[in-house]
Amino acid sequence: MYVPRIVPLAAVVLLGFTLWGCSRSPSFVASHEPWRAQEERACLVSGHVREQPWLRGRTALGGPTGACGAKQPFDMSAAADGRVALRPAAVLRCNMIPSVERWIRNFVLPEAQRHYRMPVVELKVAASYSCRPRNGQWGAKLSEHGHANALDVSGFVLADGRTVTVKQGWHGDGRDRSFLRAVHAGACREFTTILGPAADAFHRDHFHFDLARHGRSGREVVCR
Ligand SMILES: [Zn+2]
Repeated sequence: MYVPRIVPLAAVVLLGFTLWGCSRSPSFVASHEPWRAQEERACLVSGHVREQPWLRGRTALGGPTGACGAKQPFDMSAAADGRVALRPAAVLRCNMIPSVERWIRNFVLPEAQRHYRMPVVELKVAASYSCRPRNGQWGAKLSEHGHANALDVSGFVLADGRTVTVKQGWHGDGRDRSFLRAVHAGACREFTTILGPAADAFHRDHFHFDLARHGRSGREVVCR
């Protein structure tokens, strides 16, 4: 009698698979991670993220391979009731939005007031959704950017028009250094991956924030 050989699904999941396809991007390794869709659905039904003039729902993201994307992402063009612009608008999945909001309200605005006696009015967004491997390295794991689960910030525009950049300010004068380290430390309380110039050369000119799952619990924080 012929008995079909069944490859356990778990084995396929553990191996991961190399995918091609996102336009112009090198190949990356992606694993099947059902928690992503569950988490996004839970966020959408929670009612914590509602459309605003500066927070617009957009159509699903994803390539033909299905590894990248989000079911119901948002264009986020501002935070803190529209007071702090995100330029260009960030394309983010639902789960990222409350974390970005809290980071801006609880850390960016108060630290700007403390250091410069004025608010930040704009964040320079260096990247958000992008279907690519980590750090653009061929064959690396799919970046959280590929799930619209990451935000890169390269600078902060103050109310007087001055821009504090991560690239210049991290090693700049005392005030800029202190401000940037304070908002970086604040981000470590809102996101699960926080990388800046101290992490590696890839992040010398921006902060990377995402909500990846780390460790057994999935809640460990990588803050560098
Ligand atoms: Zn990034």
